[in-house]
Amino acid sequence: MSALGGRIYAITRTGMAYISTVEIDPLPPQRYAEVLKPEAARILLDVETQARRMYQGRVAWNVNSTATGGGVAEMLRSLLAYARGAGVDARWAVITGNPEFFEVTKRIHNQLHNFAGDGGALGEAERATYESALEPNAIELAAMVGRGDVVLLHDPQTAGLIPSLKRMGVPVVWRCHVGIDVPGEFARKAWRFLIPYVIQADAYVFSRRAFVWEDLDEAKTHIIAPSIDAFSPKNRGLDPGTVSAILEAAGVMRDGTSASEPVFLRQSGVPARVERRATLFEDQPLLASDRLVLQVSRWDALKDPIGVIEGFARYVTPRSDAHLVYAGPAVESVSDDPEGGEILGRAIACWNGLAEEQRRRVHLACLPMVDGEENAAIVNALQRRAYVVVQKSLAEGFGLTVAEAMWKGKPVVASRIGGIQDQVEDGRTGILIDDPKDLARYGEAVLALLRDPPLASAIGEAAMERVRDHFLGARSLIQYFELFRTLLVA
Ligand code: UDP
Repeated sequence: MSALGGRIYAITRTGMAYISTVEIDPLPPQRYAEVLKPEAARILLDVETQARRMYQGRVAWNVNSTATGGGVAEMLRSLLAYARGAGVDARWAVITGNPEFFEVTKRIHNQLHNFAGDGGALGEAERATYESALEPNAIELAAMVGRGDVVLLHDPQTAGLIPSLKRMGVPVVWRCHVGIDVPGEFARKAWRFLIPYVIQADAYVFSRRAFVWEDLDEAKTHIIAPSIDAFSPKNRGLDPGTVSAILEAAGVMRDGTSASEPVFLRQSGVPARVERRATLFEDQPLLASDRLVLQVSRWDALKDPIGVIEGFARYVTPRSDAHLVYAGPAVESVSDDPEGGEILGRAIACWNGLAEEQRRRVHLACLPMVDGEENAAIVNALQRRAYVVVQKSLAEGFGLTVAEAMWKGKPVVASRIGGIQDQVEDGRTGILIDDPKDLARYGEAVLALLRDPPLASAIGEAAMERVRDHFLGARSLIQYFELFRTLLVA
């Protein structure tokens, strides 16, 4: 059993030694009718009706290597819940690997981003490690998957399962959640390692066109952008009183006037209170009257916390009264996440080194992670309370935080990289910074929005519409359904 998002998700062993399954309660896809345009809601309803028919007696398997943590697990939890609500027996199987396997797959992951990672090779020895760890998983999966089923495999850890599943004759789709705009030597090395498996799939899915690998079959290539769940604790509506109450309960803001309770709805619909407090590095608390510029990100060098802080201190504080909050997860122990602890330490040192007036206007928040849904509610409240949201990353696959902020009607200032470019149309649904390291330009863009409230709200409104049309879970469900339909009727 694992505690996730404040509730217990049963991880069933089903008598298998390697494969476990994650239980998902169904959610009704038709709740999306509340937020979609009528035409989109009608398409979703059609798809639901067809899905019920097409998936009778079939299981739609999703396979990955972790039930917890990360955007992929979060997205799976919500998409599978809606698929189940649409009458599809969508199931989630999690493979097990040994430490050597995860060392190899972490190396592949880093190299797919064109980083050397641990600098190790991806040769025949690594292939043997990878394949031998997957073999018992493949044997167990073969015993679970029926002839009429379909399988969606996620990320490099599962690519090696493609050949054995194909031998069973079931449709297999491989979904790659990582990618890079301009591949280099390392990315190509990782592709070469995975391609012998991937080309055997019936279809492969990437998040954006630029992420598609060379040497794949164009006819099998599909693009499905990530999406957010409009009804999750991270994204569902909160009234301003509740936003204040949540921020106050979490210790992020001092108000004293909020008459509301810090209550949010869990994914299951059950109400809960925000009770745990964030750890703040600040000279004095944020007040309800302060205008807030926000970046929500892990403590990761590629999210550039130092650049976010320095650029704000240097270019925004002298010309406005706004405050910056950089919010990331609590780094519980340095041994769990050595890099997170180190980057947080550097951010604190940078904040400490600021001149007094600048330091007063910068707040670093480590949000409690014990209950994932409580954490999500605090992020939700911060994003709703923000005046401008920043995502000044140096590398980004998609940037869920961008869609999350846009959905809340916030103007976003973000780097022109990766999937951020698919979300933000410069000047219309946000502002893009051509060079992510250009602190002056970042400061200028934030100031332009702070100084021009009508511009900020026009951009925020257009941003929300863009997410409504392109980046909600309903769109992903429809695209996956269409893809599997072509495979099942082929
Ligand atoms: N996030 C969160 N709490 C935090 C920091 C981040 O819930 O303290 C969430 C954030 O809201 C988003 C996800 O983690 O949903 C990060 O996804 P994104 O694609 O932006 O970046 P990644 O971390 O996957 O590189």
